[in-house]
Amino acid sequence: MNKLVIDKDILIKNIEAIKKHTRSKIIAVLKANAYGLGLLEFASVLQQNGIDFFAVTDIKDALKLRENGITGQILLLTPTNQAEEALLIIKNKIIATVGSRSSALVLNNAASSLKETASFHLKIDTGLGRFGFLPREIPDVCSFLKTLNNIQITGTYSHFSFSFSKKTKAVYKQYVTFINAVEKIRQKGLDPGMCHICNSSAFLLFPQMHLDAVRIGSAFLGRLLVKNICNLEKIGYLKSRIIELKELPKNHNIGYANTYRTKRPVKIGIVPVGYMDGFGLRKRRDSFRFSDILSYIWRDLRLLKKKELVFINGKHARILGRININNIVVDITGIGANIGDEVILANINPLLVGSHVEREYI
Ligand SMILES: *Cc1c(COP(=O)(O)O)cnc(C)c1O
Repeated sequence: MNKLVIDKDILIKNIEAIKKHTRSKIIAVLKANAYGLGLLEFASVLQQNGIDFFAVTDIKDALKLRENGITGQILLLTPTNQAEEALLIIKNKIIATVGSRSSALVLNNAASSLKETASFHLKIDTGLGRFGFLPREIPDVCSFLKTLNNIQITGTYSHFSFSFSKKTKAVYKQYVTFINAVEKIRQKGLDPGMCHICNSSAFLLFPQMHLDAVRIGSAFLGRLLVKNICNLEKIGYLKSRIIELKELPKNHNIGYANTYRTKRPVKIGIVPVGYMDGFGLRKRRDSFRFSDILSYIWRDLRLLKKKELVFINGKHARILGRININNIVVDITGIGANIGDEVILANINPLLVGSHVEREYI
């Protein structure tokens, strides 16, 4: 019954604003169910609006895109060390990431068994400490790669660890490390292909680092950790309905932990939406896990208690008491709301809206 609503017009405006901000190729990053917007729906809007390069972190997502009419290039950001995955990558014309010798070997063996040449982007770890070769390994790695006849570099990339920070020194350092690594690849006689390092925050803050391509995820949703210089709008709101009406006298408690007491007689509406649907949650910068999210719900609760508003029939209504797992209580005194009336909850992050909630593109 609850729905996550995505306004296509706003999404398209964001896509156009992003396109205008760069001359480089745009790689749309669609991890985590496309940041909650729904992998296939989101990818098809992007494709219809001229985006033809996608990146995912899970091979299953890459295959889903292929099976559902996404014809552009797809880069798998996670290297694989498994032969079966490597075979799937090659058969479905997905671009692999190679960030270790073993992932290069696995890909080469799979390609050789299929009598194909597999395309890959070389990942360099310039400071995040995750996937990728260390810069000092590059000369040896290049010699090694030259011995593998069934794989071919079509790109080289790295990922910033702190591009949303005001301390830009770390960003410049990683950028220079990357550029030097690319230069070393050239010196070894290999073509690095398309080079890319910017995610959304670096894309906005450091236009001089756009290189051949930029990898954009959160900017499409207008959810930024840096200054919004492109006027990107936030995408996605929750839609629910009033399922019960009731009147409460003055001085009556509402909700767990007795944090709210009515100051006058109030008319309340009960709305079946809560944490379970991603309402009232905030994403921490470094976390996508529900268990982590729970640990700071309490901090946010204090913030929410006073400020959180919903819209009913175009009017503001206040949430009374705490947000629960699956419902909230709203003050509809003087609003003239009825059972079945729509309730709009604008202040949500699509990434945190559970997959049980239907995505509706309007
Ligand atoms: C998530 C991710 C991106 C996109 O990050 P945003 O900040 O959401 O734009 C780019 N590159 C890699 C490797 C990623 O994992």
